[in-house]
Amino acid sequence: MALEVKNIKKQDTKENINVLERTQQTIEIALEKLRSKSGMYELLKEPLRLMTVRIPVKMDNGEIKVFTGYRAQHNDAVGPTKGGIRFHPDVTEDEVKALSLWMSIKCGITNLPYGGGKGGICCDPRKMSFRELEILSRGYVRAISQIVGPTKDIPAPDVYTNSQIMAWMMDEYSHLREFDSPSFITGKPMALGGSHGREWSTGLGVTMITKQAAKLKNISMDGAKVIIQGFGNAGSFLAKFLHDSGAKIVGVSDALGALYDVNGLDVNYLLDNRDSFGSITHLFTNRLTNGELLLKECDILIPAAIENQITEENARDIKAKVIVEAANGPTTLKATQILTKRNILIVPDVLASAGGVVVSYFEWVQNNQGYYWSEEEVSEKLEKILTEAFVNVYQTSIEQKVDMRLSAYMVGLKRLSSAIEWRGWI
Ligand code: GLU
Repeated sequence: MALEVKNIKKQDTKENINVLERTQQTIEIALEKLRSKSGMYELLKEPLRLMTVRIPVKMDNGEIKVFTGYRAQHNDAVGPTKGGIRFHPDVTEDEVKALSLWMSIKCGITNLPYGGGKGGICCDPRKMSFRELEILSRGYVRAISQIVGPTKDIPAPDVYTNSQIMAWMMDEYSHLREFDSPSFITGKPMALGGSHGREWSTGLGVTMITKQAAKLKNISMDGAKVIIQGFGNAGSFLAKFLHDSGAKIVGVSDALGALYDVNGLDVNYLLDNRDSFGSITHLFTNRLTNGELLLKECDILIPAAIENQITEENARDIKAKVIVEAANGPTTLKATQILTKRNILIVPDVLASAGGVVVSYFEWVQNNQGYYWSEEEVSEKLEKILTEAFVNVYQTSIEQKVDMRLSAYMVGLKRLSSAIEWRGWI
């Protein structure tokens, strides 16, 4: 049961790397290009609702620790809001807000009947026991229970949360409501109504999207040199899928460092020996730093860790021909401009990492209908949705002469603004 780990240190740079501000900038430009009604940007630049909660937990040593958590609901014009919950020491209100905006765009691009939501608790799960994590997870659900639910806002896993945490949360919600509520949350274990494929869906989705992007750049996947930054849920599964497709994984990293071998790393050894937080590099002596790994020779670079890894400080020195963003927000706007000028194709996070929420949607549909699909059905349906999304975003970028980040925002916001207009909100 792997955690979605993205525990690499945020890089310091002089550039403005506030994720909320830069998401708002892109939304503003995309809405201008879409010629949306005035007032649309004012409405969409922030979540409609943000709840801040404080959760007391009796720690194993008898001390009471109070944790701060958030749940942001960006917009529910299209349908209930949807998005993961992250447990991380760097969680802030602005980050959770930005993540909820990104979820709206992901759901728009993939045409899911949802708006975006996101939650987070500021904590360090690596330093907490199983018992403490369970109390924190249940306390969070009690605190936000009034604003969430299967037809209101549906949580899911994100950084450092997994199917066990989803199971505790679902159990707590079912107790509160006094009926079984599997569709309250997605990313559950199979025994509690989880879907085939949800655990590796982000990695599988990134793999599908990477193949499309490689085709555009005439890179054959057979022998393509790939660097993956981050070896958590997304990073580790996608290393496996890309390796199985014939690619050569030349670099990987975790919170402690990075490994690089131009002849290809032994992916199966790395997968078998990593711990539940995705750490693996401590087993090696010849380590690089995460920053050094990004600048190594490769065809495809996949940041699968946290925000702000590719900035104006390192964008000029990146060697990859294609960057596929498996993490949320790994590239700053200035870095995007520099890389685009250098003719490096960037497949944005809101498209590349959408596989997770697509299979979450499948899980919710299966829970609602009480009828479950095979693994093949899940993969086929995922591939269809992601391929259509990729083609749509790519064609929009060509027609509008904009980079794929801006076209992804345009595609994602189009349906949302239309739903808002139909409802008469603007
Ligand atoms: N946390 C994942 C994301 O950022 C999945 C969200 C979901 O499954 O609802 O896309």
